[in-house]
Amino acid sequence: MYVVKFEDLNKSDIGIAGGKGANLGELTQAGIPVPPGFVVTAQAYEYFMDEAGINDSVMSILDEIDINDTKALQAASEEIKKIIVESPIPEDLVLFIREYYNELCQRVGEDDTDVAIRSSATAEDLPEASFAGQQDTFLHVSGDDEVIEYIRKCWASLFEARAIFYREENNFEHSKVYIAVVVQKMANADKAGVMFTVNPSTGEEIALIEGSWGLGEAVVSGDVTPDNYQVDKKNNEIINVTISDKKVMYTNDENGTSVKVDVPENQRKERVLSDDELIELTEMGKTVQAHYGEPMDTEWAFEKDMLFLLQARPITTLGDVEEETQDASSDLGDVLVRGLGASPGMASGKVKIVLDIDELDKIKDGDIMVTTMTTPDMVPAMRRASGIVTDEGGVTCHASIISRELGIPCVVGTGDATTTLEENSGVTLDGKKGLVFEGISETKEEAVAVAGTVEAAPIITVTEVKANVSMPEAAEKAAATGADGVGLLRTEHLMLTSGIHPGKFIADGKEDELIDTIADNVQIVADAFYPRPVWYRTLDAPTDEFITLEGGENEPREHNPMLGWRGIRRELDQPEILKCEFKAIKKLHEKGYTNIGIMIPLSQSPEELKQAKALCSEIGFEPHKDVDFGMMVEIPAAAIMIDEYIKVGIDFVSLGTNDLTQYTLAVDRNNEFVAKHYSEEHPAVMKLIERTIRKCAEAGVKCSICGQAGSVPHIVEKLVEFGISSVSSNTDAIADVRKTVARAEQKIILDAARKRLE
Ligand code: PEP
Ligand code: MG
Repeated sequence: MYVVKFEDLNKSDIGIAGGKGANLGELTQAGIPVPPGFVVTAQAYEYFMDEAGINDSVMSILDEIDINDTKALQAASEEIKKIIVESPIPEDLVLFIREYYNELCQRVGEDDTDVAIRSSATAEDLPEASFAGQQDTFLHVSGDDEVIEYIRKCWASLFEARAIFYREENNFEHSKVYIAVVVQKMANADKAGVMFTVNPSTGEEIALIEGSWGLGEAVVSGDVTPDNYQVDKKNNEIINVTISDKKVMYTNDENGTSVKVDVPENQRKERVLSDDELIELTEMGKTVQAHYGEPMDTEWAFEKDMLFLLQARPITTLGDVEEETQDASSDLGDVLVRGLGASPGMASGKVKIVLDIDELDKIKDGDIMVTTMTTPDMVPAMRRASGIVTDEGGVTCHASIISRELGIPCVVGTGDATTTLEENSGVTLDGKKGLVFEGISETKEEAVAVAGTVEAAPIITVTEVKANVSMPEAAEKAAATGADGVGLLRTEHLMLTSGIHPGKFIADGKEDELIDTIADNVQIVADAFYPRPVWYRTLDAPTDEFITLEGGENEPREHNPMLGWRGIRRELDQPEILKCEFKAIKKLHEKGYTNIGIMIPLSQSPEELKQAKALCSEIGFEPHKDVDFGMMVEIPAAAIMIDEYIKVGIDFVSLGTNDLTQYTLAVDRNNEFVAKHYSEEHPAVMKLIERTIRKCAEAGVKCSICGQAGSVPHIVEKLVEFGISSVSSNTDAIADVRKTVARAEQKIILDAARKRLE
């Protein structure tokens, strides 16, 4: 399906319509007022790229770039966008788009009605990933030719420099990220903004609302410091109203084009939302949150007296804030500027003022980036900064969301940081209170340590909550969440970044180099987590991913690599590689990193476990005695035969639900055509999970989970009930998962106590 109306979409259609499109469909179906529209699907984009024959040229440009070279990244982005904008769109797709647009015009009773055209990116393996603010939005597009032109621009915006950077940083494969385009009747807003249905920094149950004059773009892009309101959701009490000086707004000129204009002098400091409007918004926020069952980040608009919701998505960055951060700034110098705390934590460093995108290169690791407003283009430089300060913008603008996701302390909306702060002077910022202090904090070490642990909830759970780590660079951030260890260290990425196929090291007689490459990278993770346990997973190398590595030419071309030569079955065919891995871990143990355990992937028979252990013993590293030795349960056969594995001897088990789901349901996890049949919650998958957990518990073997299901709170709740011993999640899900685990554990205790009283 290339074009679909909102009415025919719901929240499970992320793979088709992207997060934005699926949510607009869901809201429409739930009866929440949303301006009407349709989605040009991710499949339409794929169809266009295939028919135009440009996939290979785009991917080869991407293969070559160094994302930290800002200028080279921008040049590559321009080249790719040009290829896309200059390629023809298949005629049948053009006809579909015209037909749906004309039908929309008829529905709203306007010729060439104004629409907003918004990008909605989606990742094939991880449709729920957030790509907020990285692709373009175009407002006031009218007429079918223009609509088609801007849809193509949206497709091109999948390759904006900031989007390429974000995907590389977060390990998304470019070829597996698609873009859907939302075409929606424009709301000609008099006032608009965003609403978080809980406080995004603390999770507190208040509606946090930001609003400004005109179209919502002013707030979302950070062009304006909006009014900030807080409403207690329990009793609709308005607990905070901060009115700011709103200098600019987006409005329509006589041609219906949106333009940025100055707010009339008498309106600049006028309050945007009345008490009644705040309550109406809060009520709508409660309805949306109840409908989705989780806190939401929404965009709203008032057109005359009518309230519309333009967008809703789950809040991706909810974390708990340690109360100690409150006191960390008490011994600091004078306050130089004040703003809004956009991303909690403390940071010290040298001020670098960036007034133009060309100046991004001057930000070096650890600097404090000070700029007029934070925009998504700045993400590569933000990543290097230890803290961010802006003149404008609100706590809910996209760049603020990104700084929270990157875990970098940030103060926005200071009004005058770029003119007040001095280039190269030392400052310390408190991203919770929204303050910038003079000087580098005496207690910098301590302050930074606090900044690193902002995501760490002061919640103690018996069930351990661990992190999945793929890139050594991500280890520190993962460790700073306070995670109880690494429940899955994927080796594949480590090899992919080395660029050389492990088989080539062996063929060239360079075993020692292979051992060092593995050991050096694993050490970074083991160091960040020491003494917490890190489970190193031996190589699970699918042939299609390793083919591109130097020396990968000989990889077999398999019909279905997911069912092919990967995991422990492959390693037992290539024992030289497996032995190098064991030697690398042994070497690290000898250096004192005794926190590293070994885990084998994708086993289908206990015989494989026996053989792997024998190879480990052969290099003088005794499983169970010298090193913890465990396995993943990813194939139904392993779940069914778990007793036999336990008899062979095993220290721990980890459920790989990504594979367990695909093999139980016969649904290729990489195939979008069957994506809707993929569900970890299918009763058959859940039965295998429950059985494995219970059998392990009976035998006293630790059982964990490291598949994506371990990052989904409502599934985690069930796993705790089954008696799982640890859960390993994505870094950004850890705070949420920890809360869920704590709640589930308390429920078990409470239920037991109530039973005793009966
Ligand atoms: C899994 O299969 O659930 C898993 C964690 O392994 P991967 O996603 O690397 O296949
Ligand atoms: Mg797997």
